[in-house]
Amino acid sequence: MPKNNKLFLERILKEAIHEIGHTYGLAHCDNPKCIMHFSNSLKDTDTKEPGFCFRCNMKIK
Ligand SMILES: [Zn+2]
Ligand SMILES: [Zn+2]
Repeated sequence: MPKNNKLFLERILKEAIHEIGHTYGLAHCDNPKCIMHFSNSLKDTDTKEPGFCFRCNMKIK
C-alpha cells in the first residue's frame, strides 16, 4: 500500500485508546466496531471506530 500518514495516525490513536481502556480495567469487547475489540490484524484495527461502544462506555463511566 502507498504511504498514508492519516491512516497511520488513526491506527496509532486507536491502539493507544485501546491500551488506555485496559488500564481502566476494560477487557476485550465482542463488538468489531468497538475500540476495545481485539485487533488480530490491521484490517481489524481499520474496522474499529475510535471510540467505546455503548456497553464499554457504561463500564468506563
Ligand atoms: Zn487489548
Ligand atoms: Zn465495546
